Amino acid sequence: MSNANISNGPISNGDSQQGLKLDFLGDLRRTHHCGALRASDEGSRALLMGWVHRRRDLGGLIFLHLRDIQGITQVVFRAEMDSEIHARAEQIRGEFVVAVEGHVEKRSAETINPNLPTGEVELVADKVWILNESKPAPFPMEDDLSVGEEVRLKHRYIDLRRHRMQANIRMRSAVSYAVRQSLYQQGFQEIETPFMTRSTPEGARDFVIPSRLTPGSFYALPQSPQIFKQLLMVGGYERYFQIVRCFRDEDLRADRQPEFTQIDLEMSFVQQSDVFAVIESMLSKAFAAAGVDLAPPFPRITYRQAMDSYGIDKPDTRIPPFHRVEALFDGTPISGNGLPMVAILIPKVGQVSRKERDELKAFGQEKKLRVFDDPKRLERDFPEQMAQVRTLTGATEDDLLLLANWAAEPDEHLPEREVLKACGQLRLFAAQKYADRHKLLDPKQFHFLWVVDFPMFEWDPEEHRWVAAHHPFTSVHDEDLDLLTTDPANCRAKSYDIVLNGVELGSGSIRIHRADVQQKVFAALGFTAEDAQHRFGFLLEGLSYGAPPHGGIALGLDRMVMILAGESSIRDVIAFPKTARGTDLMCEAPSDVPDRLLRDLGIMHTRR
Ligand code: ASP
Repeated sequence: MSNANISNGPISNGDSQQGLKLDFLGDLRRTHHCGALRASDEGSRALLMGWVHRRRDLGGLIFLHLRDIQGITQVVFRAEMDSEIHARAEQIRGEFVVAVEGHVEKRSAETINPNLPTGEVELVADKVWILNESKPAPFPMEDDLSVGEEVRLKHRYIDLRRHRMQANIRMRSAVSYAVRQSLYQQGFQEIETPFMTRSTPEGARDFVIPSRLTPGSFYALPQSPQIFKQLLMVGGYERYFQIVRCFRDEDLRADRQPEFTQIDLEMSFVQQSDVFAVIESMLSKAFAAAGVDLAPPFPRITYRQAMDSYGIDKPDTRIPPFHRVEALFDGTPISGNGLPMVAILIPKVGQVSRKERDELKAFGQEKKLRVFDDPKRLERDFPEQMAQVRTLTGATEDDLLLLANWAAEPDEHLPEREVLKACGQLRLFAAQKYADRHKLLDPKQFHFLWVVDFPMFEWDPEEHRWVAAHHPFTSVHDEDLDLLTTDPANCRAKSYDIVLNGVELGSGSIRIHRADVQQKVFAALGFTAEDAQHRFGFLLEGLSYGAPPHGGIALGLDRMVMILAGESSIRDVIAFPKTARGTDLMCEAPSDVPDRLLRDLGIMHTRR
């Protein structure tokens, strides 16, 4: 780098809002990013642009930390060198946007900042441009903020400047890029599907858009591109994907967004294992982009195994499974009358106090479980059984060992699954309670798992009918086709979930590709023929023109990046998220619209 001046120096323009002269950008260009300069640049001239991250005024010396997307560089203004420039620098405040030109100097050994990659040097400024001023920021640009999330969301553009948010949003971009690269390499085409469409059934309420040209009619925003991607298979595209926004008007839950992003794909002429291979390869690339090595293939278990060993269909496999032990205790006074009894082991918990035992018991009670928390006593009363429990679980003195079964009177309608679910909740509660002791729930460990063979139907007690556990386009196991009508409860679907650390990351299925089978499933779900025709006629019609066998999956991008970034809220990996109440605090949506617009849409107007 030469020692020649880079620019002609600032030309100021009238007074700003705060009565300050601001400088024109003119044809000024930066020579380096704020993360670039190193000791080897000593003596070079450089022109940096960025935000004033921090400012220290020591009288004759003013230090600025200048920040841009790539890093921070220390800039120094020395009064002894140029009093005019120094006076101008005195006007600079936090978050002002400035350009500085000067030469690079090495810092003395005791002033080196080991926390900054540029920490061995500073830019000694001899020109400065104040390109824009800033009101005082409502919160500091620090990673660990103590301000409430509402303030952050209201001024999201400032929140987004924080290093932690920038790291998250950039990781998201890198992951999306890797996903695209992997899928293109695997022969997929990226095809857009409409946002203004017709209701699709993913089990939630639709957001609707009133149509002005067809008064009284509505478009629906897609809950997913499900039907379109299937029709793309009928259209012969064979491998489709899209990183796509989906819209679901669901009830408030802490970590849901009304619009969220899925990596959505569909493939023709495939088996379930082909879908798995594509996803495993894609995830390996995506996680590598975030610095994490995965080792596919991921383990696979059936839904039934998941319920039997974890009491949940999205097991966190960082913690060991529980063991069914009712057979061992059959005929003893603590047997659960044929209902499941489980032994839960949480390794390396160490001493458990009386109070903690009581908390475990109380949690169990809430779930209608009887918790046996004292293995010593059990060993005294049931030595043979407990010897077998120890062999089964491999429990040592250091581990927490709990037995649990159903506390309430057995009820003939009580499905075994409900008891297992309660045991699964106790297992998770115990694991989370001692997470700091056993180090099992390490967020830097990524345990993937495929759960396969879900039931086709779930009983909806409110509607008193069977509903599709995944969605109604999922095919059933060939050998279970007759069970559709005779025994829906035991009819297995060709559907699968991908689970990461106890979080359902995505789900998919092999689809029904024959119109006659699809009609049967609609009937089993209680749709009349007219109903089915009215809602899904275009799909049924499509399937009747040579639809190929096909299947696919969709993965939640927001959740995936959240886990990778080690965040606990998806809002921290979405640039402009909504609150749990579905509002955008920054632009204040949803909002009123002008009466004229409502009139054009034929909507009667009710003011709150
Ligand atoms: N459309 C489904 C969903 O959004 C995913 C799939 O079956 O591909 O959950």
